Amino acid sequence: MGTEELELFRDTVKRFLADNVEPHYEKWEKAGIFPKDLYLQMGEAGLLCVDQPEEYGGIGAPFEFSCVIVEEVARMGFLALASNLTVHSDIAAPYILHLGSEAQKQKYLPKMASGECIGAIGMTEPGAGSDLQGMKTSATPDGDDYLINGSKTFITNGQHAGVVVLATKTDPKAGARGTTLFTVDTTLPGFKRGRNLDKIGLHSADTSELFFDNLRISKDEVLGRLGGGFGHLIDELPRERLVLAVSAVAHAQGALEKTIEYVTTRKAFGTPIASFQNTRFELAKIKTDIEIHRAYMEKCTAMYANGTMDVTTAAMIKLATTEMEGRVTDACLQLFGGYGYMTEYPISRYWADARIQRIYGGTSEIMKEVIARSLVGR
Ligand SMILES: Cc1cc2nc3c(=O)[nH]c(=O)nc-3n(C[C@H](O)[C@H](O)[C@H](O)COP(=O)(O)OP(=O)(O)OC[C@H]3O[C@@H](n4cnc5c(N)ncnc54)[C@H](O)[C@@H]3O)c2cc1C
Repeated sequence: MGTEELELFRDTVKRFLADNVEPHYEKWEKAGIFPKDLYLQMGEAGLLCVDQPEEYGGIGAPFEFSCVIVEEVARMGFLALASNLTVHSDIAAPYILHLGSEAQKQKYLPKMASGECIGAIGMTEPGAGSDLQGMKTSATPDGDDYLINGSKTFITNGQHAGVVVLATKTDPKAGARGTTLFTVDTTLPGFKRGRNLDKIGLHSADTSELFFDNLRISKDEVLGRLGGGFGHLIDELPRERLVLAVSAVAHAQGALEKTIEYVTTRKAFGTPIASFQNTRFELAKIKTDIEIHRAYMEKCTAMYANGTMDVTTAAMIKLATTEMEGRVTDACLQLFGGYGYMTEYPISRYWADARIQRIYGGTSEIMKEVIARSLVGR
């Protein structure tokens, strides 16, 4: 598939968002969650898990098609939706595709592509975020099953999830080697959803606590290797970080577009604010910042597509683009003056939503640690 197909696909995505998301987004932000049915609509429109093979319900499209969806959702300022969608299509589904048994793939992937089953990834716990080795959720062998006990927090898609890719400790004494992933069907007894948490941005994103109370699960739901969970997390994190970078560049681009509209119409001292040298220079700096990061992001996307993306490069692109997104959305808001601080102006949402991008998927500080480790070791 070439550039022309990609751009046609982009038009389809834009039309879908204009028809099915834009008219309702404000309402969903106020409600603190978007409806589960949106996933069914997106599945119907062929916008979920697009790079998954056709045998599992995808359309076998190149990775760039998945990126185009994230780009348009983020550019239009729907970052809450972008974050939930990427967890579903670009994180949870690829874990199952890359690590799952045939039975796991058949059980979950077609329904994830249709939007009937929503995916989440459960790593973070109240006592273990950056330091994932500190996680306490346990999976204890019991005959042919495991019993899972513990809790997770900040889990994207937690309220809607039909399957959680869950990180557990199967051997608490074995350190990183005691970590095992499971595919947890959320209809199993012992699974409980906690609160959908209040956030300063991404209001319509579903971000929840999850609880596991003696949840009995078959050993067939182990995802990947028993005790291999940490290695699997490390293998899959580059895609998560790259997709966050894709959303960061597009989100910054959307903020710039909104700002250009504003500064060319708003007047001060009898002239559009776009005529002040400061405004012009700020816009020039913002545009340059975005384009430099876009070039690196495109290089990284190509690396991922040809299988050469490594952990350090993924950390660099995530660090660079999300820090840029923070700078850009802040500079854009400043050009709106007081109106930028009003929630009725979308730039305020760009600014508030951008803040989390430097934290989830690994904080900027952890990205620096990963990069430094490649230079001078531990
Ligand atoms: C909206 C949202 C959605 C999320 N979605 C998910 C999800 O779907 N699944 C999931 O598992 N998690 C999710 N998370 C969790 C997210 O990945 C964590 O919040 C993040 O990794 C940071 O962990 P923490 O919050 O425990 O912070 P901490 O680890 O407590 O960090 C606190 C501060 O200390 C710094 N720090 C920690 N260690 C070091 C170090 N070695 N060197 C220097 N500084 C350090 C951090 O950078 C940070 O500034 C989500 C979080 C949010 C807010």
